[in-house]
Amino acid sequence: MEHMSNPTPPLSPIPGFEKGRIYTYIGEVVVSVNPYRRMEIYGKDTIDAYRGRELYENPPHLYAVSDAAYKAMKRRAKDTCIVISGESGAGKTEASKYIMQYIAAITNPSQRAEVESVKNVLLKSNCVLEAFGNAKTNRNDNSSRFGKYMDINFNFNGEPTGGHINNYLLEKSRVVQQQNGERNFHSFYQLLRGGSDELLQSLHLQNDPAAFIYTKEGAATATSNNDRASHKAVMSALEVIGFSAEEINSIYQILASILLLGNLQFESDGESVQILGLEAVGHVSELTATEADSVRKSLLFRTVATGGGEVIEKGHTEQDTCCGRDAFVKALYERLFGWIVSRINSVIEVKDYDPVLHGKNTVIGVLDIYGFEIFDNNSFEQFCINYCNEKLQQLFIELILRQEQGEYQREGITWQHIDYFNNQIIVDLVEQPHKGIISILDEACLTVGKVTDTVCLESMDTKLAHFLSTHNLIDKSLDFKKHFRIRHYAGDVTYSVEGFLEKNKDLLFQDFKRLMYNSANPVLKEMWPDGQLSITEVTKRPLTAATLFKNSIVALVDKLGCKEPYYVRCIKPNEMKSPVLFDDARCQHQVAYLGLMENVMVRRAGFAYRQHYARVLQRYKMTCEYTWPNHLMDSDREAVEAIVTQHGFQDDVAYGLTKLFVRTPRSLFTLEQERAAL
Ligand code: ADP
Ligand code: MG
Repeated sequence: MEHMSNPTPPLSPIPGFEKGRIYTYIGEVVVSVNPYRRMEIYGKDTIDAYRGRELYENPPHLYAVSDAAYKAMKRRAKDTCIVISGESGAGKTEASKYIMQYIAAITNPSQRAEVESVKNVLLKSNCVLEAFGNAKTNRNDNSSRFGKYMDINFNFNGEPTGGHINNYLLEKSRVVQQQNGERNFHSFYQLLRGGSDELLQSLHLQNDPAAFIYTKEGAATATSNNDRASHKAVMSALEVIGFSAEEINSIYQILASILLLGNLQFESDGESVQILGLEAVGHVSELTATEADSVRKSLLFRTVATGGGEVIEKGHTEQDTCCGRDAFVKALYERLFGWIVSRINSVIEVKDYDPVLHGKNTVIGVLDIYGFEIFDNNSFEQFCINYCNEKLQQLFIELILRQEQGEYQREGITWQHIDYFNNQIIVDLVEQPHKGIISILDEACLTVGKVTDTVCLESMDTKLAHFLSTHNLIDKSLDFKKHFRIRHYAGDVTYSVEGFLEKNKDLLFQDFKRLMYNSANPVLKEMWPDGQLSITEVTKRPLTAATLFKNSIVALVDKLGCKEPYYVRCIKPNEMKSPVLFDDARCQHQVAYLGLMENVMVRRAGFAYRQHYARVLQRYKMTCEYTWPNHLMDSDREAVEAIVTQHGFQDDVAYGLTKLFVRTPRSLFTLEQERAAL
């Protein structure tokens, strides 16, 4: 044991990473480290090796949990879900794709056409969603800028029959602005670089991202994505999924309109605002199938109802014109994305499923959602994302503990309660009605008149005093009037309040909604049902962005909560996208905030492995003289006892009603070695 006294080397203390052993387990939780290189561990041979096997029969792998989730779903008719978490660039999206590929590969051996087509749409949908929802960021060349939860439905035979995708909080601000070195969504570059001359001409676009304000920043940014090839792939995926030629064309018309709107310039003579270069307005009106004059008016004026019920047009200031336009294009993109998702859903939706005829319809859900974010400058988006992670962490703790506890109870094994950090209080701080941060933000947004971010912060200060005094969860001892800090379970995060209110209000002038609703293009019209309302009818304020997000996350957590969960926790080994660097400090930090230590503690307090007696016997009977080739005892349990005693680890196990529980992995490794040595 002399190596234990040696100090830990600063880099790469885990030889497994270098050797390409990128997966490990905590119980049934897969911990994955992004290898940043192509691994030959996803092919058909590997799939065959994991198919139908138990978790510990093979080296740790995503395929093993995928199989476990699938088996639970198929054998026990359980709805299951696989929750993938980790920070940006940790490998979540890649993992979700391997999981789906695995499930696709092991189902439908008879190649029934309708099942194959469902699988195909499910797999192809990734390509489309990534084109429209992913972008190059400083952390990841293919960063998902939305959260995704996908349900895959199965019939009693375990064949996929359909699915449903939910998307969460697309980072739409990226459409109008990107940080240095980052890009807009891939879709724009794919169109500009990959679209045929004919297509681009019809859309009034040049084939150069540098020509458009919205894509200029990213135009020169090197990326590993080949936009031209991706354009082809996306076009073909859209066709395979079943988008019609008109629909595909409408998608491109919307992208083009956004780019053209972004290039509009405005000029004010002090009294009224003018658009410079009305030709582009004509192009936008052509592309959106609206009247040119209506486009112009929507940009420059807003219709308001006076107190007396009179409707008047009020000219914007130059600044309002720009903000209004930006809000409009963001909404155009967001609704386009939402529409694409719902269009895919309409194709894969399970139709005509009769539970009496077909048996219970079961589901495997796969969640690939943004991990905890701490940036130099944290804004409203980080606030929402981190809140979402608090909720998921809460669920993780609850489910993992509940699952463990339930299993011990069922098997009649004494359970020793362990303490863990419960982050419910932070969730409360954010979401509690009337008292939480979201409520305070909403209240500030409803207040008529000039409520600034700072005023809102002051209001938080008084209203959150309770959390401050009792739990020290929120901190104002910073540059007060600009920042607040939340003690998240994953670490302290300082948020800059600038822009919070505006992002929460997410205001879009009704004039734009009406403009789009009146489009002669049915696809566009469908995306803007709220444009139907006339100005005097618009009385109710739409829900704020934070509240909408909260509602969607609460619904998500409810959905996950009633499924049997499997977890994949992704770790990013370094900031350089390097296949050889393992940055200790960074990894430790992630281990801490993913709650992996708590996870280990829970598992340690109990039993690391458990398995049905018959299965244990089947695998290890050759290692014991009393059980090979067959045992003569009264039950499998007794036979397993004989094996355990023969190897001398009776103190390391407990015998449940149907399963053997093993406290430490060591005993199991001994058995595996014995078995291999025979
Ligand atoms: P996240 O979704 O967590 O932000 P991604 O799944 O997009 O991260 O992974 C970021 C990049 O890391 C990928 O584009 C790919 O280059 C690399 N990567 C991630 N997982 C793997 C893997 N299992 N094998 C090879 N490369 C991977
Ligand atoms: Mg991703």
